[in-house]
Amino acid sequence: MRWLQGFAATALLLAGATHAQSTGSGGAAGAFAFVDVDVLPMDRDVRLESQTVVVRDGRIVAIGPSASVDVPEDATRIAGERRVLMPGLAEFHGHVPGGDDPVYVQDTLDLYLANGVTLVRNMSGDVSHPELRERIERGEISGPTMVVASPWLRSENADAAAREVRAHHAAGFDLVKIGSIPADAYPRMAATAHAVGIPFAGHIPDGVPLEVALDAKQTSIDHFDRYVEFLVPPGTDTGDREAGWFGSGWVQWVERGRIQDAVTRTRAAGTWNVPTLTLVEHMASAETPEAMLQWPEMRYMPASERERWRRAKHEYAARETFQPDAAQALVTLRRELLKALHEGGAPIVLGSDAPQFFNVPGFSIHREMAMMQAAGMTPYEVLVTGTRNAAQALGTPEAFGTIEVGQRADLVLLAGDPREDLSHVQAPLGVMARGRWWPREALDARLAEIAARHAE
Ligand SMILES: [Zn+2]
Repeated sequence: MRWLQGFAATALLLAGATHAQSTGSGGAAGAFAFVDVDVLPMDRDVRLESQTVVVRDGRIVAIGPSASVDVPEDATRIAGERRVLMPGLAEFHGHVPGGDDPVYVQDTLDLYLANGVTLVRNMSGDVSHPELRERIERGEISGPTMVVASPWLRSENADAAAREVRAHHAAGFDLVKIGSIPADAYPRMAATAHAVGIPFAGHIPDGVPLEVALDAKQTSIDHFDRYVEFLVPPGTDTGDREAGWFGSGWVQWVERGRIQDAVTRTRAAGTWNVPTLTLVEHMASAETPEAMLQWPEMRYMPASERERWRRAKHEYAARETFQPDAAQALVTLRRELLKALHEGGAPIVLGSDAPQFFNVPGFSIHREMAMMQAAGMTPYEVLVTGTRNAAQALGTPEAFGTIEVGQRADLVLLAGDPREDLSHVQAPLGVMARGRWWPREALDARLAEIAARHAE
């Protein structure tokens, strides 16, 4: 049974255990103490030195100076050695495959974990996902905590949209993934979602202006959808050219002076943005797809997916509206928009859209963070978007995203301070998700197993 591989097998073997296991086995549950570790609590920009953090049954139960916090007798000790402990990261626009290939599902979940991603807001819902979410929750299989979006909404009209929103809510999905519904169905869809109390997020459908989505208090806008259209002044003669892929066809008519209006409206609506800069930048970059497929993390993707990406980039490069100048203008505009939204108090949450377009699950979140820094955010501000902001965006700031007593034990142990250099958050020395601990050796063993699967 191929399902019983890697972390999955380990987690199952440990399911009956009542006490902490040695950290060598990976995926162990129970009581842990990070001893003499420096803590980035992420509720403020500070490094607390020489702390002990005690975890029991998936929660943080004690934090304090190592000299004054007792390590429980039954706790597995993890030597901190003044290295850095911070909350795990969220991928707020990720994808987990559907249920027909359990090996690929498990590989994807473990790629996220191996990169310190302890929560994925899954944006391509599949009927199998609510159950997958529960199995991870119960510790039957390894993986980041899953927030599960409905299947891509593609209702034919307003009645169907209302019906489908109610059905997705009843089926246990955490949010509605907005896809390609008719523009005149959007208001009913939004009103129904508010009435049943389910968030709705993702795209803004074709023909729905940004301001309509903001007035409807869409929970999050992903990929900066429809911002370019908003930034083109009404009445501009765009001829017969379509706005196209994330507004790439209209960038030349954007008026920078309208950015502040977009920021003000976004902040007033309380709508989150999940920028997914990687999505556009990977397509727009001058790097050839053949060169991109040499990136180290590509070894963890199936050959069929790599080939899809290679072809997609060639197809984009051939588009009339995506010639180098226009593509670069779109990248520059999106970075400016991110900086303006962030500085204007319109909230941002970290997401890269893996696995789309050269975004290998988990690895791509680190490329996204580097792009956010290049856009003008400080490393600390970038880290906030992937930790505390994710918890706030879900309306559960008390649940995770900071290191405080009572929080879920979603933690990464790092060799250095990522506020000084974001690359320190890559390849953590160990990852704890819901109180289960995977040291680097266990993560690397899983990575090697996944790479071997795709090596043929
Ligand atoms: Zn996506």
